[in-house]
Amino acid sequence: MDQTQGRPQAVIVGAGFGGMEVASALARAPVDVTIIDRHNHHTFQPLLYQVATAALSAPDIAWPIRSILRKQENARVVMADVTGVDVAKRVVQAGPVEIPYDFLVLATGAMHSYFGHDEWEDAAPGLKSIDDALEVRRRILLAFERAEVVDNPAERHRLLTFVIVGGGPTGVEMAGAIAEIAQHTLRSDFRRIDPRAARIVLVEAGPRILPTFPERLSTYAQRSLERMGVEVKTDSLVTECRKDGVVLKNGRIGCDTIIWAAGVKASPAAQWIGAEADRAGRIKVGPQLEVPGRPEIFAIGDTAVLADPAALPIPGIAPAAKQMGKYVGRLIAARVAGSKITNYFAYRHFLDLATVGRKSAVVRRGRLQLTGYLGWWFWGIAHIYFLIGVRNRFVVALNWFWSYVTFQRGARVITER
Ligand SMILES: Cc1cc2nc3c(=O)[nH]c(=O)nc-3n(C[C@H](O)[C@H](O)[C@H](O)COP(=O)(O)OP(=O)(O)OC[C@H]3O[C@@H](n4cnc5c(N)ncnc54)[C@H](O)[C@@H]3O)c2cc1C
Repeated sequence: MDQTQGRPQAVIVGAGFGGMEVASALARAPVDVTIIDRHNHHTFQPLLYQVATAALSAPDIAWPIRSILRKQENARVVMADVTGVDVAKRVVQAGPVEIPYDFLVLATGAMHSYFGHDEWEDAAPGLKSIDDALEVRRRILLAFERAEVVDNPAERHRLLTFVIVGGGPTGVEMAGAIAEIAQHTLRSDFRRIDPRAARIVLVEAGPRILPTFPERLSTYAQRSLERMGVEVKTDSLVTECRKDGVVLKNGRIGCDTIIWAAGVKASPAAQWIGAEADRAGRIKVGPQLEVPGRPEIFAIGDTAVLADPAALPIPGIAPAAKQMGKYVGRLIAARVAGSKITNYFAYRHFLDLATVGRKSAVVRRGRLQLTGYLGWWFWGIAHIYFLIGVRNRFVVALNWFWSYVTFQRGARVITER
């Protein structure tokens, strides 16, 4: 591929939260930045569940990478699926295309983990990309449509049963949003079925939902969900996901729609470079986020973990990926300028948030714990603040306000798979 001659080549794989931050931190550095992604857009993953439940449309939470970087003259975008890295030749491989690098940043994020049961994916799609969200939306809306035309009451009940596997923030948010669709949005739209009869089950293997939050907030979230009509099943390990339902260690639930929100594993970037990885596949990096023995390669975000077992764990969340991206961008810029950054990466944790339906959220910031309406406002403002582009902030705020006031969800379109 053509490259600008003479200047160091910084190649970033992955235009997620971490990768975009590296590119932006290198905006003024005398390097050529190439950012490679398999998608043409950057996705705001925290709001994927709103696309999956028809509150927002895909373009509200995804922006073309080219358009975000259009004013950054030293950056170019390559849409390609990276398949490997030749560390000896220092090239990134994307099928037959080779992209040379002097500095390489691996920011390829994570993907669903079915704990060794990849065959469950068909029956239980997860939520990681815009495509996933559209597929989940399609399945949820189709289930109501099919139930409307079915005569057999048992089959109708099965079609109107929705199981969400995993009681972390995504599972809690999905369960609350589906309950809202069934209870409010669709309640007057059908003639033969009553959407309010839908059964929504949130299944969690551990003893409580939102296990990383303080127990008080977990209890609050569970009670709020139950008030919305969601059945919360804790201590319920899933042993099989099938087309006709979910098998638990303590029972079976017949259903048509299963949504997987139970686990993630890192992208295969560690294999590309032959680096040591932890059990989740994350590359073990040194204190400057460099790959040990390869000072020109960095790994950040969901695809990296600090190698030092004594280091405080860094959560797999957007602010962590952004902080790592900014740090590595500055480090590369300093190295190119001939100076040396000696400080190590230090993660700063700001807050934990999860929304529970349309007017409730749980928030923890240090010793401050917020619930209910106040928490929901805090959650909404935090998400709108992080959205890229004034237009998107405006559109998202407007859509939220509209669906809040009217209970309607504007993006209720069933698309082909
Ligand atoms: C449904 C959901 C809800 C979430 N909610 C929250 C939340 O409320 N708050 C929060 O802070 N965090 C949340 N997260 C987590 C947060 O989104 C991640 O921690 C963050 O996106 C990690 O950033 P990253 O840069 O490491 O990876 P990502 O943002 O995942 O970006 C990785 C990029 O790499 C690209 N890529 C991957 N493999 C290849 C390849 N082989 N070739 C080319 N490109 C490739 C992908 O297309 C993607 O654009 C949520 C995640 C999900 C899935």
